[in-house]
Amino acid sequence: MEWPERKRFAFTVFDDTDAATLANASPVYDHLHQLGLRTTKSVWMFDGERRDDNKRIIGSTCQDREYLRWVLKLQSQGFEIALHSATWSRSERGKVIEALDRFKSHFGDFPKALAQHNDTIAGESIYWGDKRVSGLQRILYRLAMLLKRGSRNDYQGERAGSPYFWGDICKDRVKYVRNFIYPGINTLKACPAMPYHDPERPYVNYWFASSESPEVRSFNALLSEENQERLEREGGACVVYTHFGKGFTVDGKLDPEFRRLTARLANRPGWFVPVSRLLDYLLERNGPAVISSAERAALERAWLRHKLRTGRS
Ligand SMILES: [Zn+2]
Repeated sequence: MEWPERKRFAFTVFDDTDAATLANASPVYDHLHQLGLRTTKSVWMFDGERRDDNKRIIGSTCQDREYLRWVLKLQSQGFEIALHSATWSRSERGKVIEALDRFKSHFGDFPKALAQHNDTIAGESIYWGDKRVSGLQRILYRLAMLLKRGSRNDYQGERAGSPYFWGDICKDRVKYVRNFIYPGINTLKACPAMPYHDPERPYVNYWFASSESPEVRSFNALLSEENQERLEREGGACVVYTHFGKGFTVDGKLDPEFRRLTARLANRPGWFVPVSRLLDYLLERNGPAVISSAERAALERAWLRHKLRTGRS
């Protein structure tokens, strides 16, 4: 793969806003800004429902004026602002539309990239739960969920007639939606077709994959110097999926290993641009990719293997 500006690899982060506040996330972004690493931060537009089972994931939303001012500053510094669903709990169609309109009025346009936040009691997520996979993979997924803690499969964003339907709106307003995650640092090697369109999931224009590291320890493991070298050697692209609200800052102080590894990375000849910029480049270079059934099955199998092993997203 050839990268712009004669860079040798590409690296970016999609920051899932779970548990993020001004206090725990701003030191991370101050640091990334200083290093010239421009990444993607997701936001919630509204405060959601507060229940016993979602206490740990709740963070700030754009309803908090001081937080919103800070997010706008990040955007002016070159970070991409993306959407992480309307809020942390499920939203019916009208609320989703209101969230997208509000996003546009704050940030100048609809979000180009979306990672869905999946309420534990289901809701408006699109092609989620067991619908994330097809055929045999769907059967295996259902079995695994039954064995674990019961089903959380009733997502209805693509189901016309449901109060949670908003597929048509997604198609009109959102370009990229995040789907499968994989363990290695070279996301593009795990999913060479990305961004891709899946004709069996027509309401999503393009899907993208990411590399899993949900909190600071796994992030640091993914960014080991050995892995950084591998990414550069392979000329690959890494889209890390993480939560900067989970352990990167403790008592206002940035994790020292995170600080060190990201500084090393920033010294390498990488193309450090936000997620949508990277995906636009891949799309322009490779042309629109419509995946075949065989490609879909391979992506699903690899993801399911990883998912069943780690039990994560
Ligand atoms: Zn989330």
